[in-house]
This record gives sequence, structure tokens and C-alpha cells, in this order.
Amino acid sequence: MGSQKVKFTVATSTTEQQEDTEKEIAPFYIDLTKLTGPNLAHLREVGLLAEDGFEVRLLREKHVKYLTGGLEKLGSGYVSLDASRPWIAYWCLHGLDLLEAAPVEMMPRIVDTLGRFQNATGGFGGGPAQISHGAPTYASCLALLLIAPSYPKAYDAIDRRSIYKWFLSMKRPNGGFMMHDDGETDVRASYTVIAIAKLLNLLTPELMEGVAEYILQCQTYEGGFGGEPGNECHGGYAYCAVAALQIMGKLGMCDLEGLKGWISRRQMGFEGGFAGRANKLVDGCYSFWQGGAMAIVDAYEGDMTEGGFGTGVTEYVAEVGEEGADVSATTEAKGPISGELSFDQAALQRYTLLCGQHVEGGLRDKPSKARDFYHSCYSLSGLSVSQHGSSKDGVPLVYGDARTNVLKPTHECFNIRVDRVEKARERFKDDVCNHDDLIS
Ligand SMILES: [Zn+2]
Repeated sequence: MGSQKVKFTVATSTTEQQEDTEKEIAPFYIDLTKLTGPNLAHLREVGLLAEDGFEVRLLREKHVKYLTGGLEKLGSGYVSLDASRPWIAYWCLHGLDLLEAAPVEMMPRIVDTLGRFQNATGGFGGGPAQISHGAPTYASCLALLLIAPSYPKAYDAIDRRSIYKWFLSMKRPNGGFMMHDDGETDVRASYTVIAIAKLLNLLTPELMEGVAEYILQCQTYEGGFGGEPGNECHGGYAYCAVAALQIMGKLGMCDLEGLKGWISRRQMGFEGGFAGRANKLVDGCYSFWQGGAMAIVDAYEGDMTEGGFGTGVTEYVAEVGEEGADVSATTEAKGPISGELSFDQAALQRYTLLCGQHVEGGLRDKPSKARDFYHSCYSLSGLSVSQHGSSKDGVPLVYGDARTNVLKPTHECFNIRVDRVEKARERFKDDVCNHDDLIS
């Protein structure tokens, strides 16, 4: 694991912010085994440390309470997120689903609410009577698909044919998609269309025509992907590009070595979490955007090697506190595991558990920032990816207390649980997936 602070010879506002962030993080990486008296008692009382040891714990019950609250009545401060209601539903539901605590009793109400955001002309808006937009369409469909195995009416709430026609109407001559009518064209739109089309069995050659070529133009000299051709590469857009290419079976067309190098360099040496861009600061949400993108690349490359992923690697057992401030990790041969990702999985989990968790529940960008539903969702999603690797049937790699910390595996391309993806494929596999029939 890293834990080397960066040394700068020239001071700029960027280096100062980096040094400030390392100072902010350092107190969370003290040697926990040296804690005594009231400090130790406090961490055990709030649940961050096991009662019988020094292993760090995921605050499951507190996160469940916080995320469930996001599905209930929200305060007036949320009025600015009025057009993001499907996102709030998805962030909270998916976080809860990873924690095996999605509230079944609330599902009929959530499905009814999301159904009111769907337009007869196809796609979902951010609320009732709002125009259809790629982002709330993605979030609404994911929320419905993760609900549906427990409450099957959620499948019926999605109008596949009208969504297909709406996706086609967003298509541009350059292979990109617009986010909404007369809106911007970028790789978020490409990803949201391709991901939802795949889950709903709507991924026709006509819909995919030119899409990979557009996305490939967004890969930059750094190796990551920008939002549009010519833009600086960025973790969120890179995830969208990588996931969309993988779903279409075209990830091999991009510069994979450059991509892996760029993602690797975004994992911060001291903090262990990821930053979104070069010379930017660590932020918990990139645990998924960058970690998930790397998991997709690793899954792709794992499939390319004979025998697939998960053979001949060893279980990675984290042990706390053997080497001073560094939490050490040892490897022991314990048979096949779920896959070794091309980043430091234990360091990312350590950042999430020690720096990302709010002691009252919910997760955050970094300790100086407030918790929120978005960072809770993507910090937990990144934690799931780094526990389960790129295949989901092995032994998870767990940092801290394995009794409390293991999440359900999320699908790295769609970011709903793997079992939810399988159920959706099963549900829609026999539905019509032919361009001429779908537009008739
Ligand atoms: Zn963030």
C-alpha cells in the first residue's frame, strides 16, 4: 500500500491544496492498535472499530438509516435537486441494495412516482411534466430494474418501444447522442443510451451505428476520455466511455495501455482513493468512476486470457496495524479469489472506510466535506468493486472487518447488483429487439 506523501519542489495553489488534503487525511491513518482509553472506547462506541479488535468497520446500520431517509420526505434545501429526483431514488436504492437493505415496503410508491416522470414520447424527465433527458432516464430505469426482482410491476413501468424511439431521436450524425432535445452531445449521453438499451434488450445495430467511433474520438493523449472530442479527460466521462465500449463489445478498439496508465496514476499515493483528473484532489465518488473503469478493463483483459479470471491468484488478507501507521496487508494462498484489479484495492477500501464514512451514516468526498446521497452511492459502489474484483463468484478481498464490511457485488458496467442485471436480461430476452419492429 502507498502512504507516501508527495514532495513538491515548486509551490503552486495546486500543490498547496494537495498538501492541505494530505494533512487533512493523515489523522485518519494513525496506528489504530496504539489507541487506548477514551479514544479507543469512542471509536468502538460509534462502531468504526470492532469491539474485539482493531479492524475497521463499515457502519452498515447507520448508512441504511441515512439512505432510507433519502427516500422519505426531504428538507426544503433539496428543492434545487427537483430535476434530479430519479437520481436521488437511484443513489439511495442502489446503496441500500448493496447493503442488502432495499426497502421492499416502499417499492410500490417509488415505482408509482418514477412512472409519473416517463413521457409518452419516450424517456424519463427529472420529475412530472419535465422533458425527457438521458440522465434521469438512466437513473429511473436502473432504480426500476433493481426494484423489479422484489416488485415485478417495476418491469412493466418501463415503456421499451417509446424509449427506443426516443433514443434514436437523440442520435446525431457524428455518432454521438444528445442528452435531451436540442441539448449537449457527450459521452454521458452515449453511455446512458447504450447501458439502458442493453439492459432492456434494445441494443440494435441501428442504435449502435457510429457510437464507438464517436467515443473513441474522446480518448486523449493522457489515456483517459473527455466528455467530448478535444476535452480534458476526466474520471466520470472516462467511466462512461469505457463502460459503453465494453457493453458494445468494442473496448479493444481504444488505447488500453494508455487508459490503464491514466487510471493508475489517478489513485493517490498517500490517500489511497482516486482523483478525477491529473493535479486534482482525492474524492470518494471516483472510487467507482475510476475503480469501476479499471474493473471493466480488467474484466475485458481477463476474458482474453485462457482460463478467464480468478485462477492462480491468492487471497489478499488485510491485517491491521503491524507496521506503525501503515496498515499492512499480507497475502496467503487460500485458493481462487474474485480477481485482482489493476489498482491497490486495499488502499481504496481503507480510504473509503476511514476517510469516507460519516459517523452518523452516509459517505462523503473527503473528511472536510458533508455527506450526501451521491457520494454515498458511488463510495459504496467503489467499495463493492474493490471487494469483488472483476468476476463475482470468488472470495472477496476485504479490508477491515470481514464480518461487517462485505457488500453485494455491483455490475461494473451498469452499477446495479449483478443479480439485478441477470434478472433484467432474463425478463427482456424474448422481447422484440429488431429495429423495424421496434419503430413500427
Ligand atoms: Zn465527488
